[in-house]
Amino acid sequence: MSKTNLKDHREIGRELELFFTDDIAPGAPFWLPNGMVIFKELEKFIRELTLGAGYQETSTPIMVKSDLFKQSGHWTKFGEHNMYNLILSDEEDDKKPVSYTLKPMNCPESTILYRFRNRSYRELPLRFSEVGRLHRREKSGEVHGLLRVRQLTMDDAHIFAQEEKIEEEVGNILDTMVAFYNIFNFDFEFKLATRPEERAGKDSDWDKAEKTLEDVLKQKKLKYSAKDRDGAFYGPKIDLHIKDSQGREWQLATVQIDFHMPQAFDLKYTDEKGEPKRPVMVHRAIFGSFERFLAILTEQYQGSFPLWLSPVQVAILPITDGQIKYCREAEKELKNASIRTQLYEKNETLQAKIREATLLKIPYLVIVGPKEVEAKKLSIRTRDGKDLGQADLQEFKEKILADIATKA
Ligand SMILES: [Zn+2]
Repeated sequence: MSKTNLKDHREIGRELELFFTDDIAPGAPFWLPNGMVIFKELEKFIRELTLGAGYQETSTPIMVKSDLFKQSGHWTKFGEHNMYNLILSDEEDDKKPVSYTLKPMNCPESTILYRFRNRSYRELPLRFSEVGRLHRREKSGEVHGLLRVRQLTMDDAHIFAQEEKIEEEVGNILDTMVAFYNIFNFDFEFKLATRPEERAGKDSDWDKAEKTLEDVLKQKKLKYSAKDRDGAFYGPKIDLHIKDSQGREWQLATVQIDFHMPQAFDLKYTDEKGEPKRPVMVHRAIFGSFERFLAILTEQYQGSFPLWLSPVQVAILPITDGQIKYCREAEKELKNASIRTQLYEKNETLQAKIREATLLKIPYLVIVGPKEVEAKKLSIRTRDGKDLGQADLQEFKEKILADIATKA
């Protein structure tokens, strides 16, 4: 397929009934049932990865007092105009109105979780993950489908660690990123973003943080290039950039070392000698924004999602009504194994059913005629029209389950 024939994710999103945007909520997508299947699969996958790597899942409020972002430094550095702020007064009393913000990031609130009680060196590194909804005030001219949104979902995490442990934490995160992006066959590259002009904290901390990131990249023998002065205001970072199907570059995953926020929120832990110490924060996201990731994935696959992500995985197509009973049994068996299956019972020709299932990019088409019923077999073909011959139901089911499990 030439590049000019490639469809935009917005078009594919409507055709396959995945997601859409509406003027009623600019920059915030509506998710249809098919899109939600993909969203939930991605969420499940990132949760498995995260919990397996020793993270604990948390959730923090979407709307918090703006004071929090003043204390973290986001108010001035990120810009109050890039956030949604609301002045609210409580009608129950005469207190003066309070400014609230819809959180544009989870970082400051993760420090509130940390401060819930005294922390000991024994529980560090403490890894808090959160699949959180964030709001950022993108200009209306910059909002674009799912690629640039005002409401986004991020697979965020904040690690609180002793200074001597951050190198290992960053290393583990980079390993996860590589494993993750290889599953989707993306071309990716790492970029080391160093201290910006406007920044918080001491230069000696920036020196340490930048050196740690660079050391890990070298140890892991990962290729990287520099993005000078492009770090966050609180710390340097390694970003993972991918090239999408149209040759555009996107920043998705990120890992950042932060000495600033633990100081701004006066975070402490008690060390082996009973002395108070300051932890270091590591921020990380693997998908980055779910919305952007899914837009890129949709365009990359042109809607032909891999089996494990496909909203419907198997279409069962009886040639005539005579095979419906046999097909229903097959449907039940596959559904019981949690394989997303759709039986085409409509009174249409086989060609029409094949056409419909193919347009919906359903990975496997199971065709059942009198011969298949007689032999207790299924005829299998792929959405690309490849004939896989006959299989019995058990064989087919096991193959599908194996492919789902390995994300083939
Ligand atoms: Zn953060």
